[in-house]
Amino acid sequence: MTSTDPLPIRRLQESLINRIAAGEIIHRPASALKELVENCLDAGASTIRVTVKEGGLKLLQIQDNGCGIRKADLPILAERFTTSKISTFSDLSKIATYGFRGEALASMSHVARLSVITKTKSETCAWKAHYLDGVLVEGKTGQTAEPKPCAGNDGTTIIIEDLFYNTPTRLAALRSASEEHARILDVITKYAVHNPTVSFVCKKAGSAGPDLSIPTSSETAQTIRHVYGHSIAKDLLHAKFGPKNLDEDTDDVDMDADYSRPESWLAETHFTNPNYHSKKMVFLLFINHRLVESLRMKRALENVYSGILPKGSSPFIYLSLQINPRDVDVNVHPTKKEVHFLNEEEITDQIASQMQRALAAQSQSRVFEYQT
Ligand code: ADP
Ligand code: MG
Repeated sequence: MTSTDPLPIRRLQESLINRIAAGEIIHRPASALKELVENCLDAGASTIRVTVKEGGLKLLQIQDNGCGIRKADLPILAERFTTSKISTFSDLSKIATYGFRGEALASMSHVARLSVITKTKSETCAWKAHYLDGVLVEGKTGQTAEPKPCAGNDGTTIIIEDLFYNTPTRLAALRSASEEHARILDVITKYAVHNPTVSFVCKKAGSAGPDLSIPTSSETAQTIRHVYGHSIAKDLLHAKFGPKNLDEDTDDVDMDADYSRPESWLAETHFTNPNYHSKKMVFLLFINHRLVESLRMKRALENVYSGILPKGSSPFIYLSLQINPRDVDVNVHPTKKEVHFLNEEEITDQIASQMQRALAAQSQSRVFEYQT
């Protein structure tokens, strides 16, 4: 056989397919955590406690006080494409939950040891189950099994152990436990800012005090102060932007208004005034409550500040953008990190120019104060 002869095409084994697919969704402990936090929020939790060992590679545990999972659903919980959140194709166009693919827990069971303890209000005890490669198994022996009754509070605890134990190259690509830990804290911090009425705690396993403890608050600004500190909080502006050319008084945008009209969108933002600058830009972007990245938006807002701040310094910006769910394609990528939406360029430009105006108005009033 010469080297140009084609090799036979073979079907990949199911377990290998699933492991490859899982790697697409779970890149690192922080991406697992993002999925898990979103599940807690979908379940209506008001308290989320995270425990981490070795940057989440040894252990990532997340406990919520949400609705719990019905015992009857536990056998298929970690199968791919099992979800309680959508049932028809048309549901895809009006997704109000974070999840909908039913892939997160399945993925975790293919690249880690997954355990679940859960209790619904109507259940008299909690149920515990272990999963491996999508299947409910007995302890860690790998035999199929039934959920086991145990003591527990209402809500769900998800335990992820030995992440990437079976994908050594992925494990080797992750630089250090401390970097992974920092990324976990970053995800928690951002979700906490976006969900001020939910309390978040994160601690390292075995350590006495938490690394991060964010109490509930009725005000986003208060949560920002709590997690990002006074130096940002004291120079923070708050505004709401919308599709029309709004008056100076941007506060009269009704965030609960019907933004389901075509081409309608609303943005609520907390951003630092020209008094604040730091070396690195802190940018929190949520689109329809999902933590996402948009290089286009980031650059546009960086540009707004580049004319205002000293060279080499950057602002803090938290931007929550709501768009008609029909206009957002959350389906682009399994991690849902990259979100595309209709009129992306126009909306970005409008947000940038409205922020520019708000900042200009602010510096004018400062000059005015100065003179009087
Ligand atoms: P998705 O969120 O896309 O539905 P997941 O794999 O993340 O898929 O979760 C599968 C299902 O498990 C969810 O639809 C939900 O019913 C249930 N679930 C997962 N996590 C929780 C939780 N923390 N509390 C309650 N139910 C949960
Ligand atoms: Mg989910």
